[in-house]
Amino acid sequence: MTDGALNSLFSQHCCICNNLLTNADDFICPHCLACVQTARNGNYVESKVAKLFWGKTQVCRGASMWTYSKGSHSSKILVEMKYGKRIDICRKTGRMFAASLLDKNFFSDIDVIIPIPLAEERKRQRGYNQAEQISLGIHDATGLPVNTHSLVRVVNNPSQTTVAGVSRNDNVKDIFSLSENSCLDNMHILVVDDILTTGATINSAIQEIMKGANNCTFSILTIALSDNS
Ligand SMILES: [Zn+2]
Repeated sequence: MTDGALNSLFSQHCCICNNLLTNADDFICPHCLACVQTARNGNYVESKVAKLFWGKTQVCRGASMWTYSKGSHSSKILVEMKYGKRIDICRKTGRMFAASLLDKNFFSDIDVIIPIPLAEERKRQRGYNQAEQISLGIHDATGLPVNTHSLVRVVNNPSQTTVAGVSRNDNVKDIFSLSENSCLDNMHILVVDDILTTGATINSAIQEIMKGANNCTFSILTIALSDNS
């Protein structure tokens, strides 16, 4: 069965409880969605995201839609997005989150979206980059362009979730490269990923962009913020 056929089959059922969905555009039923939403700060966590980058990188705005802990409802969705070939969920969560931020002026002066890239080999194995698909969902809601060519991942480092504490910063040092003629000068860049844990990966990406682009501003959006952050 093709990925597209699999997605349309899955997408008739809630990705958590497997109940039949009444709206084919959804991936989660209203009951499970209510369980996932965090009560803090409406339905998203803003100040904690920005705090992760204090003293490392100047971040204009940051937001995560859900909190994430092992075994939680949100973790089941994130696993489907990353390993379950559920490209549809990646795009729908991106669209859903971006739509909920529109009236908060979160995107008002952002010029471009840059998803955290996967190494080519890992992207080939998985068939897609979940951060790129989330970004396309944000594009659906905002019209902002998605730039997938300027920043590349040159090192296929081990997953951050398997690396402990301080070595996380070493694990992601120099794993990105900014392509020549990236033309990002003076831009407000929205960096997008699926999960934010320590911020080391996103910080490494921002440091690389700043080496080759002048006078950039950065904001951050992830679908989930880890409880261990
Ligand atoms: Zn459900």
